[in-house]
Amino acid sequence: TTYTADAERYTKIPYRRSGASGLDLPAFSFGLWQKFGTDYAFETQREIILHAFDLGITHFDNADRYGPPHRAAQQNFGRVLAKDLASYRDEIILSTKAGNAIGPSPYLKGGSRKSLLASLDHSLRDFGTDYVDIFYSHSPDLSTPIEETVGALVSAVQQGKALYVGLSNYLPERAHEAAVLLREAGVPLLIHQPRYSIFDRRIEQNGLLELAQEDGFGLIVYSPLAQGLLTNKYLETIPADARAVNSTFLSPDVLTDTYRQRASELNKLAESRGQSLAQLALQWVLRQPAVTSALVGASSTWQLDHNLQALSFPELTDEELAIIEEHGVH
Ligand code: NDP
Repeated sequence: TTYTADAERYTKIPYRRSGASGLDLPAFSFGLWQKFGTDYAFETQREIILHAFDLGITHFDNADRYGPPHRAAQQNFGRVLAKDLASYRDEIILSTKAGNAIGPSPYLKGGSRKSLLASLDHSLRDFGTDYVDIFYSHSPDLSTPIEETVGALVSAVQQGKALYVGLSNYLPERAHEAAVLLREAGVPLLIHQPRYSIFDRRIEQNGLLELAQEDGFGLIVYSPLAQGLLTNKYLETIPADARAVNSTFLSPDVLTDTYRQRASELNKLAESRGQSLAQLALQWVLRQPAVTSALVGASSTWQLDHNLQALSFPELTDEELAIIEEHGVH
């Protein structure tokens, strides 16, 4: 079947400016970290990606690592791009990341010029595109001079292989150093990708929220549902198809009594507001003006439809924020 995008797709979710750049991102972006490898059905993956685009999600987040095996998620996205989304390439913000280990070779990890630029070339082959929109250093590499890592990001833009650059998982001090070097090189830092959720408040405490505003970069926050822990799915059972059953990244060991107690309290608060815990958790990260986009995953179109209603509820009151403060882990 031939895919035609929903003509109403830009009326469904807000778009927010990334820092001091000229680029708007959707309030919800979609990531292909889990369930987009060769271990899940391609047709389901395709359906979810196209549904996301129909909902106004213009930004798809990837990394060389995502699979399994590594690179499979990008190759699957590339197939959908070639088959269904080719005529929409100008309307898509495609990202990739490099620098986390994808093999035992010293050149398949870290922040060296070799590792980053070879990975980017390979990612372009995965996607079947000439360029990505955002190229990230996936994690800080303290053993490599920051000038070398930043230099590789700048080269990616100068070579026309990326339009913008980003950092992920950097602490504020190193992020600031990189932001200064990037600005001097004429390639301002577009965005930083940290983890942030009701269960992980580090960026509120370590100064990254303020730094983003001072240095003029956006924030796209990953795992805003804490990989599904901030939904009602694990309150009583562990559904057979859930990530905590079949991913090495979320162990069922985290589903302790303490977790269930906290999640139930948060769930009660959400219900009192007429929304679900997932919707509350997403609305909560997006309440921060420094946050450009909530970077979500989904294993069904239902999850996307449901989660993207998160901004249709009344604003969180101080009283409600205090309850969240009490039951979130920090
Ligand atoms: P989330 O916290 O949004 O978790 C998404 C998962 O939660 C879904 O895949 C689904 O898993 C479950 N879920 C979602 N909605 C519902 C719902 N309404 N009810 C029940 N379950 C639900 O984000 P992710 O952890 O997936 O991370 C999102 C993206 O962030 C990644 O794809 C990646 O792009 C990026 N990321 C970046 C990192 C970095 O180092 N830069 C690290 C980690 C992620 P299921 O149904 O399978 O249980």
